[in-house]
Amino acid sequence: TIGRMFEQTVSKFPQKEAVYDVRKGRRLTYREWDREVNRAANAFLAAGVRKGDRVTAYLYNTEELATSLLACAKIGAVFNPVNFRLSAEEIAFILQDAEPKIVLFEQAVEPCVAAVHKGFPGTAFWFIDSDPPDYAVDYHQQVLAASDTRPDADVSEEDLYAIMYTSGTTGKPKGVMHSHRTMVEQGMIVIGAKRLTAKDRGLTVAPMFHCAELHCCFLPRVMVGASQVIMHHFAPKQVWQIVADEKISYFFAAPTMWNMLLQEKFDYNRLGSLRLGFYGGAPMAPALVRSCREKLGIDLIQAYGMTEMGPAVTFLFEDEQLSKAGSAGKACLGHEIRVVQVREGAPSEPDDVLEPGNVGEIIMRGPCMMMGYYKREEATARAMYKGWYHSGDLGYVDEDGYLWVADRVDDMITSGAENIYPREVEDLLHEHPGVLDVAVLGEADEKWGQRVVAYVVKKNPDLTADELDRFCQESGKLARYKRPRRYVFVGQLPRNASGKIQKFLLRSGSWQ
Ligand code: AMP
Ligand code: MG
Repeated sequence: TIGRMFEQTVSKFPQKEAVYDVRKGRRLTYREWDREVNRAANAFLAAGVRKGDRVTAYLYNTEELATSLLACAKIGAVFNPVNFRLSAEEIAFILQDAEPKIVLFEQAVEPCVAAVHKGFPGTAFWFIDSDPPDYAVDYHQQVLAASDTRPDADVSEEDLYAIMYTSGTTGKPKGVMHSHRTMVEQGMIVIGAKRLTAKDRGLTVAPMFHCAELHCCFLPRVMVGASQVIMHHFAPKQVWQIVADEKISYFFAAPTMWNMLLQEKFDYNRLGSLRLGFYGGAPMAPALVRSCREKLGIDLIQAYGMTEMGPAVTFLFEDEQLSKAGSAGKACLGHEIRVVQVREGAPSEPDDVLEPGNVGEIIMRGPCMMMGYYKREEATARAMYKGWYHSGDLGYVDEDGYLWVADRVDDMITSGAENIYPREVEDLLHEHPGVLDVAVLGEADEKWGQRVVAYVVKKNPDLTADELDRFCQESGKLARYKRPRRYVFVGQLPRNASGKIQKFLLRSGSWQ
């Protein structure tokens, strides 16, 4: 279980620095952290939390989030981290679904909690900052009052460890259920892939409520006894300073974060401790991968995956970044991937495997697959049809066995009966030096059904649509029908917390 993995680390590295919360300026060794975790676990027990009960963390990146995760793991409570950017309405939806015993929250999200807490009389609201509002309990007071001895609990590896609500680029969020075993397996796979050791020092900049940071970075570090520095939220200016000061050896950032980080002026020679960068969760344009290498001189590993799978399903390793730029790599240890024929209105058949080079739905199975969606039997049966997770992602496998993720099934553009994958157009536009960010989608066209439109954030204010069109033509890489018919210049693109462009917002016209 995750609790026992943590305790093994504590006994191996009691005096080693475990976690440093930058906002609070507080550092804990593994021994100190274990005591803190025990106190939180005992405080939860005293508040009536029992095995299987949910504890929601509506928090930014904080030591309290990390501590409460491990405390839940020790007592078999189900950890439920949620996006700190949710609106009052969205958090209310999740609380109705998850029915937690306790919600941990902080000042930054207090207005949303204030708006909804009355609707949840059976839930206690624990505040981690000072001066809790009158409806809330002081988290630290509860924890300080509790014993630091190991809580009595009977937790087994098949027990539920967490419910994580997927970002839901479509529809209402669903709670993905993971067991202790699936996450310990995920941790071991990641440790192998990144060659993580106790000597590593990780930095948390991406949101911890998302599985990319939580399961591919945070938990593996705990498992090997690495140290971690927690940044409350992503602030590009501070990241390089912390990497230099804290001698960080690797960190994860979504592609859009890497993009912002590379715009920062910093003496990159001061980043000597950095050995590895890690990205995933959304596609990263090859041009951006190249400039990471050139400017920072570090290697990058990419992961492709989704909350339902733990998340990592494939890795593209450091030495493959140039030869297979743009690919998502190959399946992680113990995982299988297939690209199968898409069927209209029915789940695709796992045995309808396509030949290399043909685009279809990416399906997969492996040791870290979710137990299902919480209270959603039908959706679970559909997603896990015949034992394979049906991702809804389109892609193909090349002759060398590398996976290429094209787009979401729903984002594909069909213009005059030709299929266009927005990513191909986006990757090309990213090559233009005047482009900072870009999203390509289809809009209705009387003649062709759909036509291609590109939303562009300029890096160079003089950039024009004509210039971009000429660039596409002269590249010789885009067939005529794939060239955007229209360019819309915007100040920013709507992205969710894991860096995915929310194309539905662009499509609805509510974004300028
Ligand atoms: P989530 O629901 O937040 O777990 O996001 C999962 C989705 O993100 C996948 O189904 C993909 O569409 C997308 N995704 C994740 N990693 C990658 C990647 N490396 N390249 C392209 N798309 C990705
Ligand atoms: Mg998803």
